[in-house]
Formats: sequence, structure tokens, C-alpha cells
Amino acid sequence: MRRMSKNVIKVNLEVDQIPKKWYNILPHLPPGYPPPLDPITLKPISPEPLMRLFPKECVMQAVSTQPEIEIPEEILETYIRIGRPTPLQRATRLEKSLGTPAKIYFKREDVNPTGSHKPNTAIAQAYYNMKEGAERLTTETGAGQWGSALALACSLFDMDCTVYMTRSSYLSKPGRRTVIETYGAEVFPSPSDRTDAGRKFLKEDPDHPGSLGIAISEAVEDCIKHDNTKYSLGSVLDFVLLHQSIIGLEAKKQMEMLDEYPDIVVGCIGGGSNYGGFSYPFMHDKLKGNKKETRFVAAEPTAVPSTTRGVYEYDYGDSAATAPVVKMYTVGHTFQCPPIHAAGLRYHGKAPSLSYLVHKGLMESRAYGQRQVMEAAVLFAKTEGFISAPETAHAIKATIDLALECKKTGEEKVIIFNYSGHGLLDVKVYEEYRASVLKDFEATKEMIEAGLRVLPKVPA
Ligand SMILES: *Cc1c(COP(=O)(O)O)cnc(C)c1O
Repeated sequence: MRRMSKNVIKVNLEVDQIPKKWYNILPHLPPGYPPPLDPITLKPISPEPLMRLFPKECVMQAVSTQPEIEIPEEILETYIRIGRPTPLQRATRLEKSLGTPAKIYFKREDVNPTGSHKPNTAIAQAYYNMKEGAERLTTETGAGQWGSALALACSLFDMDCTVYMTRSSYLSKPGRRTVIETYGAEVFPSPSDRTDAGRKFLKEDPDHPGSLGIAISEAVEDCIKHDNTKYSLGSVLDFVLLHQSIIGLEAKKQMEMLDEYPDIVVGCIGGGSNYGGFSYPFMHDKLKGNKKETRFVAAEPTAVPSTTRGVYEYDYGDSAATAPVVKMYTVGHTFQCPPIHAAGLRYHGKAPSLSYLVHKGLMESRAYGQRQVMEAAVLFAKTEGFISAPETAHAIKATIDLALECKKTGEEKVIIFNYSGHGLLDVKVYEEYRASVLKDFEATKEMIEAGLRVLPKVPA
């Protein structure tokens, strides 16, 4: 591999250096990883019912004991078409402004048509569905990042796509709606009158703002009731994290080219997919015992403190309690999330594998308020030039804090974080931050306690 001097600010991989296999962490997890349960019987779930929703290939990937899974040629081609491999950059101007001896690197997952890591799994899911004969995919979206990624993937594989977008976002975020429609997908405000679930909520309140839970129920119902239709989910599931491992595998190669290895691996967590995909190839080394000292730091919002204040329990994946029951860090599936800007971080639970690593003490986590993360995002924009997504701002904030800790101790640590997406369609949050009208949701204790009180006790 080509080596470079230590002060390069950007490392690109050649197109033919793109990883050809995803990394599956499941066979390397410490023994005792709890299985997902059927939501009705509460017994370990068999793969068959999941195959009505997801492609067989993805369901099998989620139970695979192979640490490496080959990426099909057409997926690789499509990854390359939309911008992979992505650059790894060094944030020397941020380092200087902090006065830290730490070196800060970030992996650019903003460089693709929809501007976040989400197409990495959208492309894989659309491809396998297309191969297995599905003609249409349904999904839900909050802010619209996942909806636009899946709409992009479906357009590239000539499939139809139906997106249920929470009504509040549908009305307040016309930008992403337009992106979704430009790719030829149909997008409906949820709750809609197209499904039983939607009609039930509409009857209660014709102006219902919607929720991710309701939108999931609508997308699943639409899938079940129509032939040749499958459902797609953008985070949390083991196969989603598998597809996202392309991020960490590339980053690891890029660090090797620099002759570097991270001391601290940082990312933001909503469902856990970008951080899982980014960190697991490095976590692999720690689990093997080669790099025992590497620290893994996940950042979440104080408004949805699943890992920092939630419990490690079996919980439902959706608000309607119809999705598989998984053991995860959760604030409860009935948790009412405050309307924070980082809509991608509103999910009540975190991916089961990531939760397990936190539970085992192999991964740390921190929570930050909205104002704190936006302050970090603005510093990053001013020093490095990039306007980050509000979700990504949590990773930036954690990185800055860790770099300032290094300043105190004088340690020259190598910190690497995943730049999960740009914020050019989220500039409203920057506007509110500048105008100082941004609400900080530090004080949601009552909501969290209420959410935790109704957490179901599901027998293991
Ligand atoms: C969706 C999203 C996230 C959070 O989702 P994960 O599954 O935790 O990765 C983070 N950053 C951006 C830019 C997103 O769009």
C-alpha cells in the first residue's frame, strides 16, 4: 500500500481500492448476544416472517456467521457511481483553533447525491429486492434523509418507491420532499388515508403531525397488502450495519496509508448505523485483542438519551409494538421525543449489536444538548468549511471535547470521527442557532422517566 507523509490533509482511495467485502461483527461479538424475539410469541424469531418484509438475502446476512460477506459487483458499481470511495480528511484548522496536540481525522460520508451515509444500505437493499423480483419498496422517513436515499437507490435500480413522511416534516421540509419526488418516488404525509393505520390516526386528528412509529406502521401495512412489494428500513438492523461497514473498511485502509491508527473512534448514534458501520472494522481489532486500548465514543442527544439514561432491555422496535422485540438500550418504544432538529437521532432505541458493546463496556457514550452541538458545528464550519447535518454535529462536539481533554493532558492522540452528512438542507437550524431561539432539551427528565415507566418487561 502507498504510504504518505504524516501531514497530508486528505487521503483518497482509488476506485479499484474499494473494499470488496462487508465486515460482519456478529461472529466476533463476545458470547451471549441476545437474539431478537417474535413480537407476539416473545420466542426467538425465525427468519421466515421477516422475509415477507425484507429480501431473503438481507435476512440471511443478519444471521450469518461469516465475518466477511462479498459485495455483489452491481452494488460496488453503484457505490462508485454515487461517490465511493469517500475521502478521509484531517481537520488541521480545527486542531489549531482548539490548540490541541491531538490529530483529528474525519471520514466524508456527505459526498454523494443525497448527502449522508444512508445510500450505503439503500443501494444494497434496493439491489437485493430487485434481484428477488420486488417491483416496489415502501418506507418511512422523518426528516427525509432516509426517504431520499431510498428514492435514489430505487431510481438507480428502476424500481418504484413509496415514502411515508411524517406530516410535520412533509410540511416543514419541502426541500427533501422535492428530492424524493425528483427521483420519481411517491411521498405521502403520514398519517395518510392510504392505510388502516393512517386512517385511524387521521380520524382522531385530521391535522395529526405524525410520528416515525405511525409512518413505519403505514409503510409495513402497504407492503403486506400488495404483491411484489417489500419494506425497507434505514438503520438499527444487523444487515443495515453490515452494509454500512464499507465506511469503516475504507477508513481503515486510509489510516494505514497514513501509517496511523486511531486512539479514539467517534460517531453520532440515532439507530446506530453510521457509527456501527464506521467503528466495527476498528472494533474488530479490539475484540481480537490487538488494539485493546482503542476507545469508542458514541454521541447521542440529551433529548433521546437511550444509552446514557435509558435501560438495556428487550423492547419493541416500533411504537405500534408490531416490530421484532430486541434487546437494546432504549428509552421505551412509547417515548415521546421532543422536536429536536437532529431528526435522524430521534429513534427510541439503539442497534442491538451496538447496545451489546456498550453493555459489555467495550464502547462509551455521551449525550449533548442542541445548543452545544450547534456551537461545535459552527466552529467546524468556520475552521474546516463544512456545514454539517445537525446529527453529525453531535460527533463533532464529542470530538472537540476529546481533543480538549488531550490539550489538558498534553497527549497527542489520534481521533477519527464519521462525518455522517452535510447540513445544506438543514440550514434552518443554523438560522435558529444564530438567532438564539434554539431550544435546548436538557430538561426532558419527566418525559424520559415517563417513557421508562411504560417500558415493557419482556421475558428473555
Ligand atoms: C440518519 C442520520 C443519522 C443517524 O442514523 P444512524 O442510523 O444512527 O446512523 C446520522 N447522521 C445523518 C447525517 C443522518 O442522516
